[in-house]
Amino acid sequence: AASSSSPAATKPYNPPSPYPNTPLQPHPHSLPVDGFVGAIGNTPLIRINSLSDETGCEILGKAEFMNPGGSVKDRAALGLVLWAEKTGRIQPGGTIVEGTAGNTGIGLAHVCRARGYKCVIYMPNTQSQEKIDLLRMLGAEVYPVPAVAFENPENYNHQAKRHAERLDNAAWCGNRAAHIHTTGPEIHAQTSSLPGGLQAFICATGTGGTLAGVTRALKDLSGGRTQCWLADPPGSVLESWINRGKMERGGSSITEGIGQGRVTDNLAQDIALLDGAFTVPDGDTIRMVYHLLDRDGLYVGASTALNVVAAKQLAVKLGKGSRVVTILCDGAYRYQSRLFSKKWLESKGLYDEIPAELQKYVVL
Ligand code: PMP
Repeated sequence: AASSSSPAATKPYNPPSPYPNTPLQPHPHSLPVDGFVGAIGNTPLIRINSLSDETGCEILGKAEFMNPGGSVKDRAALGLVLWAEKTGRIQPGGTIVEGTAGNTGIGLAHVCRARGYKCVIYMPNTQSQEKIDLLRMLGAEVYPVPAVAFENPENYNHQAKRHAERLDNAAWCGNRAAHIHTTGPEIHAQTSSLPGGLQAFICATGTGGTLAGVTRALKDLSGGRTQCWLADPPGSVLESWINRGKMERGGSSITEGIGQGRVTDNLAQDIALLDGAFTVPDGDTIRMVYHLLDRDGLYVGASTALNVVAAKQLAVKLGKGSRVVTILCDGAYRYQSRLFSKKWLESKGLYDEIPAELQKYVVL
């Protein structure tokens, strides 16, 4: 009876496939990963087809929205928790306290649930309701506080630090190591064997952890051949600091999580490695949110759209055939009550910036 196995069992598993990449290629996550944190990182580089075809360049986005907590900040969150554990700043059952515009908090809230810590988050009260709600759903204690400058002791960063000082067994985290050790080397590994390698990397900054960390790694790994640029929203001082050596602040931006009124510690360490900077107006950013949705099927937040505008501009500047990588920080889910609301867009003077044929996507 053992020899009369069914024809189905002896037939080789070779179903006809409509997918272009079968048989399956080896994948970094081909084996089971160790819990939530095991799924962080090793994100794909997505060729932005509409813009690459239009420019004759290769514009690639590191798909950080595919991290399990939904943003680039899962990496920093894990890095911060590993650091707090390794240095003995936190013991089982302890509390992680952080000041964040939202995504670091969301990453931390996930990692804290997965590793048995409590999580306390201070954030500026200007951030989207979706982020505050999600943090609370993930069990974090959330304090939305007035958005005041870093110099003011009531700034969310300082409030978070004081909160941690009042608790036993609590760590305040303030990091670019995750990007030096993971994001940067991944981008290098994903591009170094391509013909011509990688000409440039560009992204916007909040804490500066992503830009400074990736820049440090890529400059080292490429022997200085990859240019590294900053993209800035209006109202941030960094573009003028990098291009003209003085901090000029003008205007404001609808983007969340990026733009700075100061040179953060992360950036201060590596700012000299940067090759230049662009400012991207909000009109260009919002148009790119809708363009990426319409043409590439990508549903991304405003910081991602700003990064892609800047990556395209840099690729065109570097010339046909150049390859530029940027960061696709997170999805639009976290901001949709704003980015897809006619009323909100009108209140920011941005509705009319969206081309008529794309206004059908404004459904809220
Ligand atoms: N985009 C979004 C949506 C973010 O929340 C952040 C983090 N504040 C960034 C970009 C910038 O990352 P970084 O803090 O590493 O500069």
